[in-house]
Amino acid sequence: MPLELVTLPCLADNYAYLLHNAETGQTALIDAPDAAPIRASLAERGWGLDLILLTHHHWDHIDGVEPLREAFGAKVVGAAADAHRLPKLDLAVAEGDVIDVLGTKAHVIDVSGHTAGHIAFHLPEISAVFTADSLMALGCGRLFEGTPDQMWQSLRKLRALPADTLVCSGHEYTAGNARFALTVEPGNTALQARAAEIAAKRARGEATVPSLLSEEIATNPFLRTDLPEVKTAIGMADAGDVAAFAEIRSRKDRF
Ligand code: ZN
Ligand code: FE
Repeated sequence: MPLELVTLPCLADNYAYLLHNAETGQTALIDAPDAAPIRASLAERGWGLDLILLTHHHWDHIDGVEPLREAFGAKVVGAAADAHRLPKLDLAVAEGDVIDVLGTKAHVIDVSGHTAGHIAFHLPEISAVFTADSLMALGCGRLFEGTPDQMWQSLRKLRALPADTLVCSGHEYTAGNARFALTVEPGNTALQARAAEIAAKRARGEATVPSLLSEEIATNPFLRTDLPEVKTAIGMADAGDVAAFAEIRSRKDRF
C-alpha cells in the first residue's frame, strides 16, 4: 500500500514529515516543530491529522503538538522512557514495538544518544526510517544526554536497515555536515560528489533530505568510523570503534 510522503520545512531549519494514505484518507505527522506550517500544508491538501509520532522531547520537535491535537483530535505516540517530558501520550512505545501507522507497520528503534529516549520509526513496507536528530544527512545529532557509545550503537542499528531505506531526518544541516565530512575523508570520491550535489541543491533552495541509507553508508563519517581507512584518516588507526566515533563527534562539536 503506497503512502504519500511530504517533507515539510518548519522553523529555521527543522523538518517534519507527513504520511498520507489516499485509500483511507488518513494522515500521520512525524514530529511537530511548529503547528502553523503543518496546518497550512494539511489545509492546502485537504487532509486531516490522525496520528502524531514523536521522536524526542526537544521543543523544536514537539512545540506544535497541542494545537494540532486540539484542531484534529490526532493521537500522539512517543517514547515510554520520555513520557514524563513529552506531551501527553495516547500510546507510549519502546524498542521492539511494532505499531500500526495508516495501515502499515512501524518498528520502534531506540536511538538514544542525542537525548536519552530518542526513538526512530522504521516503516519497512515503504522503505523509510524517521530518524530526527539521531542519524542525519551526512551527520548525527549532538550528544546532549547520551554517551558516544550509546550513539554509536544507535547508528549501527540504523546502518543495518536495508540500504535502499529513505532516511527522513530532522534538520537541514547537510551543507555544514558536508564541509565537516570532507575534513575527515577528503579523499572519499562519493563524498566529494555528494558535497557538490548538496551545494547545488541548497543554491536552488531545495531540501537535501530525505537521503538514502546507501548514500549515508558511503559518505557519512558517523556511519563509517569503524572503517580502517577512516580511523587512519583521523590518526587513530589502532583505536576502537567507540573511541574513533567519540573523536569524530568531538571534532564536529568544535568545527
Ligand atoms: Zn533535538
Ligand atoms: Fe532538533
